[in-house]
Amino acid sequence: METNSFQPTLDYAKQLDALDNLSRFREEFYVKPDSIYMDGNSLGLLSKRAERTLLESLADWREHGIDGWMQGTHPWFTLSEKLGEMSAGLVGASPEEVIVTGSTTVNLHQLVATFYEPQGERSKILADELTFPSDIYALQSQLRSRGYDPDTHLIRVKSRDGRFLEEEDIIAAMTDDIALIVLPTVLYRSGQILDMKRLTEEAHKRGILIGFDGCHSVGAIPHSFSEWDVDFAYWCNYKHLGGGPGSVGGLYVNRKHFGKNPGLAGWFGSRKDKQFDMEHTLTPAESAGAYQIGTPHVLSLAPLLGALEIFAEAGIANIRQKSLHINQYLIDLIEHELGEFGFYIGSPRDDVRRGGHVSLEHPEAARVCKSLKHNGIIPDFRAPNIIRLAPVALYNSYTEVWEVVQKLKKIMADKEYEQFKNEREVVA
Ligand SMILES: *Cc1c(COP(=O)(O)O)cnc(C)c1O
Repeated sequence: METNSFQPTLDYAKQLDALDNLSRFREEFYVKPDSIYMDGNSLGLLSKRAERTLLESLADWREHGIDGWMQGTHPWFTLSEKLGEMSAGLVGASPEEVIVTGSTTVNLHQLVATFYEPQGERSKILADELTFPSDIYALQSQLRSRGYDPDTHLIRVKSRDGRFLEEEDIIAAMTDDIALIVLPTVLYRSGQILDMKRLTEEAHKRGILIGFDGCHSVGAIPHSFSEWDVDFAYWCNYKHLGGGPGSVGGLYVNRKHFGKNPGLAGWFGSRKDKQFDMEHTLTPAESAGAYQIGTPHVLSLAPLLGALEIFAEAGIANIRQKSLHINQYLIDLIEHELGEFGFYIGSPRDDVRRGGHVSLEHPEAARVCKSLKHNGIIPDFRAPNIIRLAPVALYNSYTEVWEVVQKLKKIMADKEYEQFKNEREVVA
């Protein structure tokens, strides 16, 4: 973006908005006029196109009944495959390598059930201590189901500072007893991007399979899973991608693994032309489709049709470019305006290592978040001390970011946050 260097003024924010080549997408979303949404990394806002494709799918049911499987605007029988094709560009895969199915956690179970093949001493799974808890629960239960003790068989790479992971530390943990590696693409708290290409190369040099959780990166940054030779990946579609609450997840399997039997089999993993032969021997699809289990959740797939159309039009490279710029602007403003209030920026400063949100640490974070909400700003809180702010490329403006920081400054200067308890809500 061609701009002069940073200035803390409202005028400068407006200049940046005027130069924003994605600004036209804002009107595609239901943005509430009296509030500022900074939580698109947790649950993306509803777009008009996502609403439209959901309503069209309801109409398909209304108009076609059972025939909606093959007829109507969005036939259900091939919807997961169609959405896989539409998602492929976002993860750098070919269309057959992606399927939209299950949920993040279920897909992880499927992929571990499929790709975790302990042999003798090589029987451990490598993850990290900053990973999202659901992933850890899934890995622990997968180990137990194979008769291993997660206390000895789930290795978690340690963080040196509680925020970031060092690739060297992960590589050093790739020892002969590791059978499988599962890591995040972007860490959910700090927003650090791991060097997936390097980690994949290093894992493969040692004969270890590696997969990534893309929940916090898909829709925010570009990926090249196939080029990097990543074995598998999985992600959710309700965060940056705006597929709606409970939206069906994404799953990537490198084509070199096509034909590998699914660890958790079900009839929707069948070759499409064979599925209704109703045989008791599964003929798996020769694509990522093989890792589907049961009937797709059609109404939770439908909004993604519209949502992904917007990503295709905007282009992930443009989205990344604005995302980096608007997040850097947020960091610059925080440093300029909030210096005296004890905030610490817990996200990487380096563009190459920073995903789509900024993590702001403060001992009073829980009640600062409540105070922001009280002021019409929607952040999110991660215990014990993190305020995550995610200016989203497709619908947030620079002026909004400016307003957020001004509000935050006022909340701190007037100690408005002291009206609230410093503890998290049930859903935080
Ligand atoms: C959001 C998120 C999940 C959530 O998993 P679901 O199965 O969709 O509930 C898992 N992992 C990470 C890293 C996440 O950010």
